[in-house]
Amino acid sequence: MKIVIMGGGVIGVTGAYFLARDGHEVTVLDRQPVPANETSFANAGLVAPGHSYAWASPQAPMIMLRSLWRDGQSLRLKPKFDPHMWLWCLKFLGQCTTERARINTTRKLGLCVYSQKLLHGVVQHTNVAYDRRAKGCIYLYRTPAALEKGVLKTKILADSGQQFEVVDGGRAAEIDPIFAPVKDKFAGGIYCPTDESGDVNMFTRGLAEFCRRELGVSFEMDTTIRGIDVAGGRVERIVTDKGDFTADHYVLSLGSYSPFVARKIGINLPIYPVKGYSLTLPVGPQHEAPNLGGVDEENLVAFTRMGDRLRLTATAEFSGYDTTHEPSDFAAMLAAARDMFPNGGDYSRPTYWAGLRPMTPEGTPIFGYGRYDNLFMNTGHGHMGWTMSCGAGQITADLIAGRQAQIDLAGMMMQS
Ligand SMILES: Cc1cc2nc3c(=O)[nH]c(=O)nc-3n(C[C@H](O)[C@H](O)[C@H](O)COP(=O)(O)OP(=O)(O)OC[C@H]3O[C@@H](n4cnc5c(N)ncnc54)[C@H](O)[C@@H]3O)c2cc1C
Repeated sequence: MKIVIMGGGVIGVTGAYFLARDGHEVTVLDRQPVPANETSFANAGLVAPGHSYAWASPQAPMIMLRSLWRDGQSLRLKPKFDPHMWLWCLKFLGQCTTERARINTTRKLGLCVYSQKLLHGVVQHTNVAYDRRAKGCIYLYRTPAALEKGVLKTKILADSGQQFEVVDGGRAAEIDPIFAPVKDKFAGGIYCPTDESGDVNMFTRGLAEFCRRELGVSFEMDTTIRGIDVAGGRVERIVTDKGDFTADHYVLSLGSYSPFVARKIGINLPIYPVKGYSLTLPVGPQHEAPNLGGVDEENLVAFTRMGDRLRLTATAEFSGYDTTHEPSDFAAMLAAARDMFPNGGDYSRPTYWAGLRPMTPEGTPIFGYGRYDNLFMNTGHGHMGWTMSCGAGQITADLIAGRQAQIDLAGMMMQS
């Protein structure tokens, strides 16, 4: 079939790869000059089934509420006069029970594990380079009480087969000697040997180039989608500032912007942007940067070594579609990083960035058809879209081909 994919982030591009491998003629539309220029630009880089916890938990409402009067909260609510925000927050609150957190975490883990396995196949097939580090990730806790809670939390994932090792400072320093001088700063950690990391931007652009060169995928960049024309329960064409695009089948993968396009044709997608901040430091031979990715759980700062760069990310902020940032937004993250990695990179030359995670209240993405027979959703991958991307691409190709998905998609299928 002729298939048009709306969106050239990591989700649109992995979707293009799997659909093109099925023999379809694929075109990707994106408003940016190059793929992966929005949320898939500078994320934390963790491919981490071992950290696939649902954000909606019994603790989340209090943290969000506290952020209204206290600075420095990792989960922040900046109220806006936006009915979509409040509707989303209500649905999110509905997921904040122990039982829903368990169900959502288990579903996310299933997709993340499946996706990681497929990622390895994609890398083997395409040889895409993306500053990969595959020696596990470490989740560090600064107090014994926090470590104990962290270990309890892993039970949901461990029960589903994820491997973990609880480590003290000495063992952490054996895994990565970079922790030796700072091992007294944390009470211990949880090491997940199968988690990994890499630069989502390099991966997506490399894969897009492979798709173009080897699989004949066409990328129509600098092309802004204005709407979708529908008739008789089918999509007839995509309307853009560069003219109309027609195909047999269409896939919606516009990340946080999917709801805008969907709403115009009567589909309500429960996706809301959750802003995150990242900064990247150059790493030279004189620096001592971590060799594996992980999270400082006390401050919720993720750290990832990407070649000669150290990437740090933090914060989940509900503040609409604003992607602006100021140096002060990064102060807490920088302080935590300097404390843990005093010589981790060149702190005088940070590159700042902010992006919007396309979150659903459950934290799982949305697949399948709504009210149009030829419009497939592959969107809403939230804070784990890089980890989920290859699995989501394969699921998209399977369901469009009429094959059964290889994992249970309970709770992830579009309601028509
Ligand atoms: C700070 C931060 C840290 C993160 N860390 C991790 C992590 O460690 N691991 C992990 O797995 N995930 C992580 N994520 C999440 C991950 O980055 C996202 O889930 C993923 O990038 C979403 O990909 P996407 O393709 O859906 O969206 P995008 O990458 O945003 O792609 C959507 C595309 O649609 C295009 N578009 C939008 N509207 C239009 C329009 N009208 N016309 C044409 N084109 C349009 C955009 O240009 C964009 O290229 C993180 C996210 C953030 C913000």
